[in-house]
Amino acid sequence: MNAPSPDTLRRGWCPSTLKPMETGDGWLVRLHPPGARLTPAQLQRIAALAARHGNGLIEISARGNMQLRGVTAGSHPALVATLLAERLVDEHEGDGPQRLTLVSPLACLPRHCEERSDEAIQGASSASGLDCFASLAMTRSSVQPSSSPAGSSDLIDALALAAAIEARGREVAGLPAKFAVVVDGGGESSLEAFAGDMRIVATAPGRVVMALADRLWFGPLAESEAGAVVAQLLARFAAKRAQTPDAIRRMGDLAVDELAALTDLPATEAPAARPASRRAGLFALGESHAALVGLPFGRAEAATLDRLAQASEMLGCPEIRLSPWRGLAFRGLSEANAIALLDGAAAEGLITRDDDPRLSVQACAGAPACSRAEAPAMADAARLAQVLAPDLAAGLSLHVSGCVKSCARPAASDLTLVGESGRYRIVIGGAARDSAVATLDLSALLTRLQPGQDLHARLSAAGRLSGQTK
Ligand code: SF4
Repeated sequence: MNAPSPDTLRRGWCPSTLKPMETGDGWLVRLHPPGARLTPAQLQRIAALAARHGNGLIEISARGNMQLRGVTAGSHPALVATLLAERLVDEHEGDGPQRLTLVSPLACLPRHCEERSDEAIQGASSASGLDCFASLAMTRSSVQPSSSPAGSSDLIDALALAAAIEARGREVAGLPAKFAVVVDGGGESSLEAFAGDMRIVATAPGRVVMALADRLWFGPLAESEAGAVVAQLLARFAAKRAQTPDAIRRMGDLAVDELAALTDLPATEAPAARPASRRAGLFALGESHAALVGLPFGRAEAATLDRLAQASEMLGCPEIRLSPWRGLAFRGLSEANAIALLDGAAAEGLITRDDDPRLSVQACAGAPACSRAEAPAMADAARLAQVLAPDLAAGLSLHVSGCVKSCARPAASDLTLVGESGRYRIVIGGAARDSAVATLDLSALLTRLQPGQDLHARLSAAGRLSGQTK
């Protein structure tokens, strides 16, 4: 199979397992595991495949999809054959979305929560090179307490609703590949930070409201009706789009009156804003616990994830869900074993705390991984995350892009750095193509971001540093 030429790619095209994307380090193969969940054994298998058929790097995207990098024309057929034969991916035909819904990896109703797997609590073995997970158990050094049972506070069964929408959505032809339906259970694991063409938010037990393009809200309606209503809206949107496909790529391309014409339901107010969800750490899910682990800048070595998967298996984890916070949620654990897993993950350099500054940094692969890169974006992002840690923890958003294409984040950030001939164009409060205030190499940039220097003063004046109102 030949990868699509970058020159012929249409806007809105998405890579998948069968349609890899050319990148600077080979083909990127995006995986959509069935239900966005894996067992520990399946994660170990994918890690082995990533090492065998790719360059051993695995990413989790901001849509909660898994990506293998460095696949070649020679290795791709065998990789696909194995993924399909072992049902590690849920690939389907057509140009529509391979994954339509976005649901929290912590979504869960108390009655649907996994039973506590006490019988599996055997402590981690010191064999198999996993000593760190055993020795770190109960030290809690890397673990923020679970203040309340996030996820278990959901008002609907968001996982079941998302599965129903996935099934119905596959019957609708003509949806754009990037089309997204956010399914928010209304609990503490809020998905407000994620954009979607459609959004479903539970506002009371068994009741939801919906939004089109986050501009037009309607409802409320019963949870049991939501799947059918979404299917109808998808079909109407696809029919509308078929009239002018080049002009209508996403729901947001429609005017408000056009959005209103898609539904017969009464308009309503947007639900009240909820606090942002924690993006990593320990979570109580009813009777069990989850360890939510972030991958720095969404990327990890296959060997690291293999060790993590092995450890989770020994600790009794029955299910891993892919996280749009660019990580993995290990569910169904006892509290002690979730803590042990988090401490082991922290020892591997992964993200286990919500205040980790790396969570506030978006960075693409950059050089040398990407052939278009003009700067080593990911390596420099790690350095910048250290230097700017207090400001990042306080809410500063930083985007480091290897070139102007801005793969990691098309939208604006408080501070956007764009690789250009080995240096960075510096944009404050804008996106990659906006006007730069300076162009500097990393060393000069780090100096001028210090208190008392001009870039620090500019960020401060723009209200984008710690504790300032934006
Ligand atoms: S933004 Fe540029 S350097 Fe970064 S991954 Fe995309 S094309 Fe490569």
